[in-house]
Amino acid sequence: MIERPRTKLPHVRRPNDDETPCAVCDKPINITKHKLFVWVHEGGASIVTEAEGKKLNETGHRGSDLGLHPVGRDCIRRYPELEPYVVGVKD
Ligand SMILES: [Zn+2]
Repeated sequence: MIERPRTKLPHVRRPNDDETPCAVCDKPINITKHKLFVWVHEGGASIVTEAEGKKLNETGHRGSDLGLHPVGRDCIRRYPELEPYVVGVKD
């Protein structure tokens, strides 16, 4: 489990229907094509592995589970500590 890194960009447009904000920088990502996700937990404070997320949910923290969020490649490059937490979604 790591603290969720956050990057503040000067301007981020609103996501359209096919998009969800990047977990780190809020830049809209088209999730119909995107394949890299992280599991955001503890109300947005943490990034967790699958095992850690399941454990939190089993121990009464399901209410702070925000689920999988897309993360941009540029953000993974900027925060290499994210890499072990990235879930690749296959076609
Ligand atoms: Zn990003």
